[in-house]
Amino acid sequence: MYNNTKQRGPSRSSNYSSGGRSGGASRGGFSSGGNRGGGRSSFGGSRGGGNRNKRKSSYERIDVSRFISKSTVVEKEEIYLPTHTFGDFKIEAKLKLAIANKNYIYPSPIQDKSIPHSLEGRDILGIADTGTGKTAAFLIPILNKIIKDKNETAIIIAPTRELAIQIEKECNDLARGMQIWSVVCVGGAPISAQIRGLRRECNIVIGTPGRLLDLVKRGEIDLSTTRSVVLDEADRMLDMGFINDITFLLEKTPNDRQGFFFSATLPKPIEKLIERFASDPVKVMVKTRDTSKNVEQDVIRINRDTNKIDVLCDLLDKEDEFKKVLIFSEMKHAVEKLSVELIKRGYKAGSIHGDKRHNDRQKTLLKFRNNEIHIMVATDVAARGLDIPEVTHVINYEIPQTYDTYIHRIGRTGRADKKGVALTFVG
Ligand code: AMP
Repeated sequence: MYNNTKQRGPSRSSNYSSGGRSGGASRGGFSSGGNRGGGRSSFGGSRGGGNRNKRKSSYERIDVSRFISKSTVVEKEEIYLPTHTFGDFKIEAKLKLAIANKNYIYPSPIQDKSIPHSLEGRDILGIADTGTGKTAAFLIPILNKIIKDKNETAIIIAPTRELAIQIEKECNDLARGMQIWSVVCVGGAPISAQIRGLRRECNIVIGTPGRLLDLVKRGEIDLSTTRSVVLDEADRMLDMGFINDITFLLEKTPNDRQGFFFSATLPKPIEKLIERFASDPVKVMVKTRDTSKNVEQDVIRINRDTNKIDVLCDLLDKEDEFKKVLIFSEMKHAVEKLSVELIKRGYKAGSIHGDKRHNDRQKTLLKFRNNEIHIMVATDVAARGLDIPEVTHVINYEIPQTYDTYIHRIGRTGRADKKGVALTFVG
């Protein structure tokens, strides 16, 4: 236990609201053109935070001993021998070149096992987590379709804005110079810029369920001819209360759609949804490495007389150890308050949470990635699915609601064969 005594151009990806354009063609398209400017129709408040009311002191139910594990073994990632090379895939030469430019030498297991089938038009059910290369696993076949026919369109539905933007970045990298158009449609960013992007026509829409639903209802997105549909992190979308929204969106797509369903776990409602919308999908399971084995886990006991933030600062002061620290707190306002306090005390810190403007969240993330700040305070939702390299410590300033969330949090460290440390404040 720790002692507590103390606008055009291939890389417009940064423009979250109007997406990347990789060239000049303007074919393909989402915008049905009808019903423009129609009333904003709400879909029953199921957007985000679906579990908010369930918030209770459920942490009492997690046995504190589960937050302690000293016997870390930095497991070398098992070497996977792919059965294909990217050269084997029946994809366009320019896509192969783009993959090579990303320095992807061999397909990751999920890519190796799913791409040959998806190139044949099969639906895919991928049980895989972030970090497995699942994004390229669905983007490669989709981009290949679009290169062959610029009228092809795809919709990619992701739980969070950050994940949507991460996907768009990968998409822009892989589609560079190919005249493939994408638009990111996420909540918290101005809808007007997104509408402009959609009206300019585009091949790929990447977005979060609530905003996509809004745009469909306004008649700005027409899914009736969208023959590629991706659900990314489907189980997270369920957790976040988006199940009705994604069902609604899927219902709008044509029957001959190709579905790419990705989820780390397969809870019943998601299984049912996939059963309904996928036809005989190829199921690919990728054993995600149990990163928690790479993570030394311990608790920091706080008693009534100790000032929690002072204890935190004592840790952060050990700068040669605590080089890149992700701190989790439960509520948005608590995250903001903590980050403001840390900045006041002279730390290079930032925060991401749902109340923060989308642009500001992106800026903070970039700074954290680039080591301009070395502390980021986050809510679970905001940090979900993020792939940030070299986080040395995860600190649970507040205990997560569920053990699953705990595992998800600590998985932000101890990545890529590195050792990580997770510390949980317990009262
Ligand atoms: P993802 O699970 O899609 O978020 O991908 C996790 C990370 O793996 C990202 O940084 C990707 O750029 C990277 N990646 C994806 N496919 C490959 C590959 N075949 N070889 C090397 N890196 C990859």
